Amino acid sequence: MLTEDIRFVEGLKACMNCGVCTAVCPAAEFYNYDPRQIVATVQMRDDEEIERLLRGDEIWYCGECMSCRPRCPRGNTPGYVIQSLRTLSQRLGLFVESEKGRQQLALKRLIGDNILATGYCLTPRNIRPELHPEQGAVWEWIFDNHEDVYGRFSQSYLREGAGALRRMDSGSMEELHRIFEVSGGKEFFATIERHSERKAREMGYDGATEEYMMQTYTYNSENHY
Ligand code: SF4
Ligand code: SF4
Repeated sequence: MLTEDIRFVEGLKACMNCGVCTAVCPAAEFYNYDPRQIVATVQMRDDEEIERLLRGDEIWYCGECMSCRPRCPRGNTPGYVIQSLRTLSQRLGLFVESEKGRQQLALKRLIGDNILATGYCLTPRNIRPELHPEQGAVWEWIFDNHEDVYGRFSQSYLREGAGALRRMDSGSMEELHRIFEVSGGKEFFATIERHSERKAREMGYDGATEEYMMQTYTYNSENHY
């Protein structure tokens, strides 16, 4: 399944285990995370170890910055290999077995659903103060007065027309939905929901509710170092 992913084909030619990718990786500085080791595991085609990766937190530590891409002396891109592992973990429903993997539900709902609803990944209205306390009181004020504040940047704020943060016209939204249908994006979102629903019930929740999503979004076991 991994070898059917074009990112995997592009990302892993032949690794000589030199460790340059880990040396330049910003995630490796903060987490117990080693792209060299992940690439080595995948290259050995050890199914058991690959499954361990798909079930674990490690593959979700990558920031997808692609600093590893221009540095690898063998032309590999560990970041692409990680992306293909993440997709496989999502497809197989194994992402729900790790704390960081379960957060995929929040990404799907906060960003994925928003794209389908508005045409934007994120708009100021999505940065809800209760989800982002780090933004402080000033943000809370901007959030409450968004029409006034953003209306000064863009005359078409939340309205149809030309300009930043405009409301997408119905033709563009139809086209967007069609793209997500034919590219498998909608099916992919449904897969994330389905496995999250199963895991939520296993964990004692009444399904993949808002409460479950917030738990996965905010919980930190402090075991990430
Ligand atoms: S830099 Fe390239 S060759 Fe070196 S360990 Fe990383 S992937 Fe392998
Ligand atoms: S893409 Fe991922 S593995 Fe590569 S340097 Fe960035 S954080 Fe590290």
